[in-house]
Amino acid sequence: MTHGSESYCNSCGTRAEYVVITVSLPLPAEQFNRYFCPVCSLIVELPQAVEGRFVLQLDDNQTDLFGNPSWFRSQLATEVKRFARPDRAYALTEIPRMQIHCPDDESPMEPWIDYPSPRLLHCRKCRRRSVPMGGASWISGSVIAPW
Ligand SMILES: [Zn+2]
Ligand SMILES: [Zn+2]
Repeated sequence: MTHGSESYCNSCGTRAEYVVITVSLPLPAEQFNRYFCPVCSLIVELPQAVEGRFVLQLDDNQTDLFGNPSWFRSQLATEVKRFARPDRAYALTEIPRMQIHCPDDESPMEPWIDYPSPRLLHCRKCRRRSVPMGGASWISGSVIAPW
């Protein structure tokens, strides 16, 4: 399947399609903390603050869009629920920045806020961080992923 968008590596010139996947939890929020793995083109998006009752109701067993169990999202939910306050169901629960490891290559994910500009991905061929993200396709929401 092609989306008609390709990116070029600035180091070796290899042309390839890159898809940036955003994984999140079913939590309504206005502002998010984002984490990024430039090797796997993966973004994790967690609320900065969310109404307490949504955190309290968050299921420990998260799934993807088609109901397939997702250990990674379940682990994120468990992390977020550590900040739940049963006595403050209608107040905002703040979710601080945390250390998240990429579910694919297990490297520590970078805080998106500190991300170097221009935003670059790792090239699949030469492994250098030389692929501008501009041409990448983006998938977000309850995306289907192996983890
Ligand atoms: Zn990764
Ligand atoms: Zn390259």
